[in-house]
Amino acid sequence: MTPIDHDAIKGIQEALLGWYDKNARSLPWRSRATPYNVWVSEIMLQQTRVETVIPYFDRFIKEIPDIERLASVPDEKLFKLWEGLGYYSRARNLKKAASVIMNKFGGVLPSDIRDLKSLPGIGPYSAGAIASIAFQSRECAVDGNVRRVAARLLNRADAAEKSAQKETEAFVLGLVPLNRPGDFNQALMELGAVVCVPNAAPMCGMCPVSRFCEGYMQGTAPDIPSKAIKQKKKKQLKTVLVIKAEDRIALRKRPAEGILSELWELPNVPGHLSPEECARLTEELGLDVIKFNVLKPYKHIFTHLEWMISGFYIQAQSLRDITGWVWATREEIRELYSIPAAFNHYLNNQ
Ligand code: SF4
Repeated sequence: MTPIDHDAIKGIQEALLGWYDKNARSLPWRSRATPYNVWVSEIMLQQTRVETVIPYFDRFIKEIPDIERLASVPDEKLFKLWEGLGYYSRARNLKKAASVIMNKFGGVLPSDIRDLKSLPGIGPYSAGAIASIAFQSRECAVDGNVRRVAARLLNRADAAEKSAQKETEAFVLGLVPLNRPGDFNQALMELGAVVCVPNAAPMCGMCPVSRFCEGYMQGTAPDIPSKAIKQKKKKQLKTVLVIKAEDRIALRKRPAEGILSELWELPNVPGHLSPEECARLTEELGLDVIKFNVLKPYKHIFTHLEWMISGFYIQAQSLRDITGWVWATREEIRELYSIPAAFNHYLNNQ
């Protein structure tokens, strides 16, 4: 997959780096590009927009400024710093990787791409990004944005498919210069994020590499990648209970396995309960209910899953000891308990 000749490669490198020097967004992990900062930012940026990540990154680095402290940070504090970013497995893996780095690499983030890939949470893309940006190694970092740019440059829709990842990586690696590989990779990602954007809308008129772009010259770029068949998300019904007593709200910890594991949640049961069924449930729990409201349903969307949530607001006379539950004040919820965004709608509106 290399129909681009040597002169074109040089041209792409120069044009893209020149464009990046003028247009790179000023980002906290770029102005302080230590290996630790680059690593944390790359993990946060997986599946998450740059604008969302910035305040999380600043807070995280302030609270956990190095690998040693990351390895020993209590889970509750880690999850609290991650609250709202989603995909909590990223936070868990950061901590696990920090422990491996302390035990196996003397507390120093390894620079070798194979060592990086051996760490929890670091796949080929993140390893390439960290190796090139933090250590100036000539590696490629091919994410969805870069795959799309490559496919358009080549005028090959199939290059945007995950199944062609190896070939596309080889093509992109062929573009990466020895000098400034990290900047070049960031320039490609940035080009994909702000110019060569998805959904049939590349801004070729502003693109520094348009004269090397087959998709642009053939007029096919907007159709690349071809429209993917949308995968149907699995739907799950849930009834969520917002139970209050003495100005405290009932919470319980999610199981150690599965989605959102070990985070805190509002008590809930599978399916949509009728008010009668819910009343029976509160009776079984031994709650002395003084107020009972049906809440407006909503849905929470994950990558492969939708929760169709209905709910009840329940005011109880007094706190009741229920195995696995805690009764937390609003302040304790803010400070101590990491609650996934899926529950915020009810939590913040009651
Ligand atoms: Fe993307 Fe257009 Fe630039 Fe080609 S010319 S890389 S399609 S923005």
